[in-house]
Amino acid sequence: MAVRGRFDLHTHSTVSDGTETPSDVVRAAAAAGLAGLALTDHDSTAGWATATAAAREAGIGLLPGVELSTRSGWRSVHMLGYLVDPEDAALLAETDRIRRARRDRARRIVDAIAVDYPVSWDDVLDQTAPGATVGRPHIADALVALGIEPDRSAAFAGILHPRRGYIEPHYAPTPVEGVALIRAAGGVPVLAHPGATRAEWVIPEDEVAALVDAGLFGIEADHPENTAGGGPVAAALARRFGLPITGSSDYHGSGKPNRIGERTTAPDVVEAILAQATGSAPILP
Ligand code: AMP
Ligand code: FE
Ligand code: FE
Ligand code: ZN
Repeated sequence: MAVRGRFDLHTHSTVSDGTETPSDVVRAAAAAGLAGLALTDHDSTAGWATATAAAREAGIGLLPGVELSTRSGWRSVHMLGYLVDPEDAALLAETDRIRRARRDRARRIVDAIAVDYPVSWDDVLDQTAPGATVGRPHIADALVALGIEPDRSAAFAGILHPRRGYIEPHYAPTPVEGVALIRAAGGVPVLAHPGATRAEWVIPEDEVAALVDAGLFGIEADHPENTAGGGPVAAALARRFGLPITGSSDYHGSGKPNRIGERTTAPDVVEAILAQATGSAPILP
């Protein structure tokens, strides 16, 4: 399939922790002049139907996707999965389990914060669309609405920073399990933003080797939150294993300073993803 123009392969909507509905994210991508986008909400494909309708209407390309939460020891690892079969039983079971674990963990985090600040679980639910994948951003929004923190980024640097002691991890499969789940569901797995961390914290080479053995397609080495040290290490990992590099904004609407389309993926890489995907069909203009 010939692809013309550039795609932003990582965006979030109100189905997870973005601030815009899936159709508004699609329209924002069209307004930014992109050839296409991927909608990659955390652990959910619930936004695909409305995003698909909006993409057809706007005449823009869409790769439906998901950002699977995985974990390797203390390291949270996000795995993008493009064009998976959204009805795949194993993937559905795992994303359900992760979403429930995220919700339980968010409740525990809020209980811990509530010892020191006047915030309740209902305040967080007020900031969360029904059925959405709950994360720290929704807790941040509650703290902002209550006037305890000025905005999401300040909340992440403040009360929600791990060193403040309120944050705890949630259940997640291993990265290798994540890659295998995405492939088994006919999707194409890409390691999300490994360079958005200090150079010494980028995922180690032997772990990437195991991901490649499990079927990893590419590495999102071009990401707005790459650090000066981490970005080059992520790019070097892609070169070392001969993996395509993807670029994306990780757009979260007004919830993060990232602008849609500020990083994009080259047409030949999008074509290679399309060539390997069997789980679902893209929308191509
Ligand atoms: P969680 O998955 O619950 O640990 O929360 C992490 C999510 O918060 C990720 O999707 C990040 O994109 C988002 N996030 C991290 N830092 C910030 C920030 N400074 N402002 C807004 N969102 C952020
Ligand atoms: Fe997010
Ligand atoms: Fe992520
Ligand atoms: Zn993301």
